[in-house]
Amino acid sequence: MRKNKVEVMVQWYYRPEDAIGGRKGFHGERELFLSDHKDWVAPDSINDKCQVHTLKQYQSLHVVSDVDYFCRFSYNVKKAEYRPARVPVYCVCEMPYNPDRFMVECEACTDWIHPECLRMTKAEVEVMTHFVCPDCTKRHQSEGKRGTP
Ligand SMILES: [Zn+2]
Ligand SMILES: [Zn+2]
Repeated sequence: MRKNKVEVMVQWYYRPEDAIGGRKGFHGERELFLSDHKDWVAPDSINDKCQVHTLKQYQSLHVVSDVDYFCRFSYNVKKAEYRPARVPVYCVCEMPYNPDRFMVECEACTDWIHPECLRMTKAEVEVMTHFVCPDCTKRHQSEGKRGTP
């Protein structure tokens, strides 16, 4: 008699480029989507392991190694739907956070800004002791000297 084959149930993570909609500018290089696509596979077809972090955990990693990834969206393969449908957006470009891109915090409104969206470089903002975004600068100027917050 044939022995029962051992198989394990796997749930696939998708790379942005493998999902409908594809890779977007705000997707991190090491971003994965947790899909609802499950398969039975032979254990020997699993050849390596990786660490999938939450975005928060990923941000707090001191060193990102080859096995580190992060996941903030789940992906319904049949419906091509992402959860959550909306995530917070930042900067004048109003894009979700991409951990691969440097951002600087505005002292006034605490929004996070990509220097290049203001035609600045990371080096330029890093030497600034105070950073205030263009919106807040404008608001401050229009309020004048007697202006109250
Ligand atoms: Zn931006
Ligand atoms: Zn601001």
